[in-house]
Amino acid sequence: MNEKKLCMADIQNKIYEAGLLRPEEKVVLITPNCVLLELYTGKTYSYRMVDLITLKAKRLFSSQKPLSSSGYQKAIEKMLAQISEVEEPIPADKHNRARELLTYTFTDILPKHGMTFRENQLSLALSMLDAMEETKVALCEAEVGTGKIHAYILAATIYRLFHGSSQPTIISTSTIALQKALTEEYIPQISNILMEHRIIEKPLSFVVRKGKSHYACDDRVRNYRSSILNNGREEDKELIETLDCLYTGACSIDLDSLPLTDYVKGRICVERCHLNCDLSDICRYRNFILKSQTNAFYFQIANHNLVLADVLSQKGGRNRLFPTCGLMIFDEAHKLLDVARQMYE
Ligand code: SF4
Repeated sequence: MNEKKLCMADIQNKIYEAGLLRPEEKVVLITPNCVLLELYTGKTYSYRMVDLITLKAKRLFSSQKPLSSSGYQKAIEKMLAQISEVEEPIPADKHNRARELLTYTFTDILPKHGMTFRENQLSLALSMLDAMEETKVALCEAEVGTGKIHAYILAATIYRLFHGSSQPTIISTSTIALQKALTEEYIPQISNILMEHRIIEKPLSFVVRKGKSHYACDDRVRNYRSSILNNGREEDKELIETLDCLYTGACSIDLDSLPLTDYVKGRICVERCHLNCDLSDICRYRNFILKSQTNAFYFQIANHNLVLADVLSQKGGRNRLFPTCGLMIFDEAHKLLDVARQMYE
């Protein structure tokens, strides 16, 4: 079966990487199996389709004007007539087994760990699982206390178990508090429970992704530490201890986890990498980014700004900030529109 994806940006990326998107051509319609591309030649609008299963492009028609809604309907009919393969339906047994395991987890396993069974939490998780399997968007609203975080972590994990996806799930949040709760509480807790019940073989791995100014640059740490040591001031004792910790690699490069002032963070954070950096081969920030671009982590957690910055980056033809994801979950999605407005205006 083809890998299931929820990200429209991924579909555009897939076509672009396959060399099927011409300069000035844009995606104007996406269906589960194909996309419609539009190119304005200066005189006419030319339309092509790309079959997402075979990754083959085919010219459809031209028009003097951009498509109206009835024009789009006709375009869909033409595309459907051209599709060479119909997407394989999800085998019923796989679908049923995934639902059964998810149900069993909520009704039998979680209560053994002190969590009460809630009917609305289970139906929320099942509707999320259905949407994941059908490559649809699940728009979910749940009352406080429903347990939506457990619902989406478990739905995503069980989806991945049954569909053999190795691509990470991106969880986009609005607040640092939620990111902390996910990484310090929810994901480790669910991971331990699923390991104990032999549902997963390895712990659920995760990484928090942030903008580069949140990470230490080894080169700048070295230079700043050297200047502070040269000053030889008694009051810098604690600062030197933290810089030593960073310099020797004993501390994480995540600056948010260190007792440093904003001024010091600004002096040692990653900026632009200069070409002749002698630490580039062993740079911890670079290694972190390289690892984060792979499927090494089950979950990648970021804020809405970074996720939308990735979309802008792709649109601008620049490097992606995230690897291709299997699933995308927006928690605190009510804040997404405001963030998008700030970023796109
Ligand atoms: S490669 Fe870039 S981030 Fe890494 S140490 Fe050098 S300048 Fe800093």
